[in-house]
Amino acid sequence: MNKTQLVTTLFSATLLLTACGSDSTSNSGPADSSSSTNETRTSNSGPADSSSSTNETRLSDIEVEGLLFMREEEELARDLYLDLYDAKGLEIFQNISNNAESKHADKMKQLMDEYGIDDPSTGERDTYTDQHLQELYDELLNQGLGSDDLAALRVGAFVEETDIRDINTHLDHVSAEHTDIISSYKNLLCGSRNHLRAFAQQIEDNTGSAYVTQVPELDAEVRAILTSDKERCGK
Ligand code: MN
Ligand code: MN
Repeated sequence: MNKTQLVTTLFSATLLLTACGSDSTSNSGPADSSSSTNETRTSNSGPADSSSSTNETRLSDIEVEGLLFMREEEELARDLYLDLYDAKGLEIFQNISNNAESKHADKMKQLMDEYGIDDPSTGERDTYTDQHLQELYDELLNQGLGSDDLAALRVGAFVEETDIRDINTHLDHVSAEHTDIISSYKNLLCGSRNHLRAFAQQIEDNTGSAYVTQVPELDAEVRAILTSDKERCGK
């Protein structure tokens, strides 16, 4: 190897090293692509953020179903109790309807307005969009109009037991962050417990014997309610 060859070889080696250097520069290619991965992550965090902020206000289908159903079930109690008051003149029905059930129905409407849900209410007393509730109303009114006061009082207590069962079911499906819905359902439940205590007391006064639970699956809960004191709901 002469001097020229050696210089050429060294020069080539330098080129190689430079090439390696430029390779390492081109390694910043993958680095770039990882930064573009970061961009992807950033753009992912966009939709993730917006969906999480949407979740704070958007309700699941089952949560919406619960509000729609409870809105009309509270209307059913409000209307049925007024009808039974008109027919029987028992003050308990008018008091509970005006002081509680109408407010419960209004509260459900308020929540639906806040969450942008259309009101299922027909706006007409004694009529309901939910066919199951319409059938229930028709059947209970028929029963409640029976010959004696006891029939009406039993219908009142049955409505309260049904409310307790249904509110409990819907409460189970409410996401923990929807504290406004949870506290509203709990307030409805509290009202129903007091109403059940009031109806059961009048039934016991009327029959002279202990109140018998009408929704069998609730027997333990009903017994616990009837052996505990009247509550101050939401106060
Ligand atoms: Mn109620
Ligand atoms: Mn009630």
